[in-house]
Amino acid sequence: MSLARTYLDFNATSPLRPQARAAVISALECAGNPSSVHLEGRWARHILEDARQAVSALVNAEPKQVIFTSGATEANTTVLGQARWVAVAAAGVEHPSVLEAARRHGSTFSQLPVDGDGRVCVDALKAWLAAPVDGDRLVSLQWANNETGVLQPVAEVAELVAEAGGTLHVDGVQAAGRVRIDLNECPISFLTLSSHKIGGPQGVGAIVQGPSGQLEQPLLIGGGQEHRLRAGTENVAGVAGFGAAATAALSEVSSSPRVRGLRDELESGLSAMTPETVFFGTRSERLANTSSFGLSGLRAETMVIAFDLAGIALSAGSACSSGTVGRSHVLEAMGVGKALAGSALRVSLGWSSKKHDVARFLEAWAKVTQRGRATAEIA
Ligand code: PMP
Repeated sequence: MSLARTYLDFNATSPLRPQARAAVISALECAGNPSSVHLEGRWARHILEDARQAVSALVNAEPKQVIFTSGATEANTTVLGQARWVAVAAAGVEHPSVLEAARRHGSTFSQLPVDGDGRVCVDALKAWLAAPVDGDRLVSLQWANNETGVLQPVAEVAELVAEAGGTLHVDGVQAAGRVRIDLNECPISFLTLSSHKIGGPQGVGAIVQGPSGQLEQPLLIGGGQEHRLRAGTENVAGVAGFGAAATAALSEVSSSPRVRGLRDELESGLSAMTPETVFFGTRSERLANTSSFGLSGLRAETMVIAFDLAGIALSAGSACSSGTVGRSHVLEAMGVGKALAGSALRVSLGWSSKKHDVARFLEAWAKVTQRGRATAEIA
């Protein structure tokens, strides 16, 4: 990939951190299976347990609380898929891996409304918690939204769910390494994480079980790996990279003012050029790295391609798994109109972002919006 590229899509995936790359390469040298008793096996086990320690430290948990998976999608599917949930509630802005798994519960799934910034309506949650159910109920709430960066009131919700005797799952994928997460402070039963959003390799994630969380059914069955909760030989090299990324990300949680400075510079530059730009989620607390905005009259798909040609990687409102751009269910849940939502772009920064990335974006924005509007007027 050319060095002239500017990468502004950390919420889709973060570039691999050098520490994570080194850990992956080193772990690939290990020939052992962590379940084997010989020296090679013990070496692999050592790598795995070191990484477990690092990932648990990221959220102030104990290593034994961490179950490694193939990513957050598997982690979310596992938690949401437990047969014991007789009632499930999740906000309409959740990641598809949560919403689709929740919908499998059929009529026992309740989609909670959100406000104009995508924050869950706490009164609706209270009403849901007050209704009697015969069995275990699960609330699933993301810590931070992948499209807008908006933070949910996790601490408040955790208290409410605990008081009602329910179970709380938090998708911490976008928040990990960006805001402080302390499982000792917050009664969360299950927290799910993804390696590639914090600068580790793709295809690795984790479920962290809080003191009140106990998975009963593994999604994958077979061997007794991961406390019998996730069968299959662990992805040792991937997990090693995840661990190294977790350590680096933890040391950088406090650097969010630097990233916030870049994001704010980008937003003010953009507003100065095109004052009609609408920024989403700005009345609420947001991740420091994310900016989501729209400009009626422009088409997000066209803009993403134009930026790509200008050497800049960013996303339309959400990066669809298929590579196509669909209507953002997040912006829809927030009540954003169709035309504005269709123009929504997301810029997300991270550990390697620099001032000149912002400057390049703003330079390109001037050209691309001018061209985009001219085309829109002709069309
Ligand atoms: N939850 C959120 C909030 C996400 O942003 C993502 C990744 N887009 C996932 C879950 C799924 O993570 P993974 O790619 O590790 O399956």
